[in-house]
Amino acid sequence: MERVSRVDELRRLLDSWRSHGEAIALVPTMGNLHPGHLSLVELASRQADRVVVSIFVNPAQFGPNEDFARYPRTREQDLRALDETACHAVFAPEQTEMYPRGPEGAVRIVVPGLSDVLEGAHRPGHFEGVATVVLRLFNAVQPEIAVFGSKDYQQLHLIRYLTRDLLLPIDIVAGPTVRESDGLALSSRNQYLSAEERRRAPALHRALRESAHALKSRARDFGAIEKSGLQALRRAGFTPDYLVVRRADLGAPGTEDANFVVLAAARLGNTRLIDNIQLRGGVA
Ligand code: AMP
Repeated sequence: MERVSRVDELRRLLDSWRSHGEAIALVPTMGNLHPGHLSLVELASRQADRVVVSIFVNPAQFGPNEDFARYPRTREQDLRALDETACHAVFAPEQTEMYPRGPEGAVRIVVPGLSDVLEGAHRPGHFEGVATVVLRLFNAVQPEIAVFGSKDYQQLHLIRYLTRDLLLPIDIVAGPTVRESDGLALSSRNQYLSAEERRRAPALHRALRESAHALKSRARDFGAIEKSGLQALRRAGFTPDYLVVRRADLGAPGTEDANFVVLAAARLGNTRLIDNIQLRGGVA
């Protein structure tokens, strides 16, 4: 496995692969890798000849009161984990490589209608930061394929929109959410939870499953489904930011729709968790 920190080095490596006609897949991450990330690497390796994993804790996607400074950075552990996978190269740039004109001089990407709703409404600037760094990673790697987790459903949707709108010749592939045995979605932020909060945390997935169950049973009073999901979260000790039923494209749901996603974000103590569940044709 190659380790690269500069864009020019990365380009040389990728050129040598491309000269052999090899297709490249990119898996963007912020490091602190867990089996959810590693499942995306395996998925990428089934779709392309070469897999590049990027590790970059992107300052532009953290708000001023968020956890950028304390976000877990576990480089050596991540490299050891990736060594056991089908990853061919790790691209771990310094901030100046990704933002050559500094954070203030950065060209920024806004995705209309998606940057500032749901997660974006609760984390102002977050998706602008995500879109801004993902486009830079796409330009640095120029992959044929890029793999993202469905765990961050709105992010996945926003990246699909951006890719299509900017005419980027990249296939966006979604990987399923990897969970603990009690249903809690794996996340680097789970390690912030106290033992008591960790015990309560699976209630987030349970609330989403109950909403999905209601939709499967043809309930179409979306307001009532959302209200009962929010109540379940509060009963479990969460402070919810939102729990909403949306169409798969994140539009307002209608009674004739069959493809839904239920998305939630909620705080447990100081830790903010997000999760979602998708139903296609009424099946979760
Ligand atoms: P992050 O390092 O949090 O930016 O995540 C990097 C990628 O891993 C994103 O595409 C996430 O959606 C994905 N991811 C995070 N958690 C999971 C999980 N539990 N299962 C599958 N993919 C995940």
